[in-house]
Amino acid sequence: TRQTVMQQERLRAFGQMASGIAHDINNTISPAALYTESLLETETGMSRQARRTLQTIQRALNDVSNTLTRLTDLYRQREPQVVSAPIDLNQLVRQTIELTNARWSAMPQQNGIVIRMVTELAHGIPSIRGLENELREVLVNLIFNAVDAMPSGGTLTLRTGIAKTGSGEGEPAGIRGVYLEVVDTGVGMDEEARRRCMEPFFTTKGDRGTGLGLVMVQGVMERHSGELEIDSAVGKGTTVRLTFTATEAAVSRPAPTAYAGTASKP
Ligand code: ADP
Ligand code: MG
Repeated sequence: TRQTVMQQERLRAFGQMASGIAHDINNTISPAALYTESLLETETGMSRQARRTLQTIQRALNDVSNTLTRLTDLYRQREPQVVSAPIDLNQLVRQTIELTNARWSAMPQQNGIVIRMVTELAHGIPSIRGLENELREVLVNLIFNAVDAMPSGGTLTLRTGIAKTGSGEGEPAGIRGVYLEVVDTGVGMDEEARRRCMEPFFTTKGDRGTGLGLVMVQGVMERHSGELEIDSAVGKGTTVRLTFTATEAAVSRPAPTAYAGTASKP
């Protein structure tokens, strides 16, 4: 969609700016780090207090450098991923539900959170190609967002099925795609959040949020040539839909049509 494209361009522009700034800061702090190190090594007669102060400076410089590395990693335009393996989305969903269990079952929701897994096809869905780690991280982020959005309980549905892709220009229509939806019955997003949720560092969670979750999700989806759509209504909930191109390979192993779990402790 046009909006998705605009968001991608904005993100790219932001990424370029961020890595430019990171580069400048690195150039500024690296002599400082070198001088600090050389002082610590050569000035053997310095007081304990002075040594400790220098070590603190060294740690601080090191932290800055690590932060910059993380920031630039986040925006680095990686090569389209070639090394990828066939992935069964249903399997991925099941694994991730287990992985995140501790988080949602620990939430003090009054009514608990019910997690459902629904798949359109009882005989399994076509596999997709991708990086399992990255996709699992995407799903973890989306599940955490959904849990955060349901402070007084609700239902989280993870739905997979067949989607039509190729509606865009230059692509043949009707290619088989696979979708994965994360649907919550939470607070939803207001107009501002809806507009700005993909912006780096935009968060409505104060100190608890980083505003980088959806940025990461978007980055992974781009590398997988997938599509990300968000549909949200205040007071009703949010649906995040990820669409991937299915591989030619046949259908993945059969999956149960529904998975139900609940975080509520009766
Ligand atoms: P964070 O979770 O650290 O705030 P994200 O990038 O994951 O950062 O999300 C950005 C913002 O988008 C959130 O702060 C929230 O306002 C909004 N948001 C994301 N997912 C949902 C959701 N499922 N329901 C309601 N709001 C959401
Ligand atoms: Mg988040």
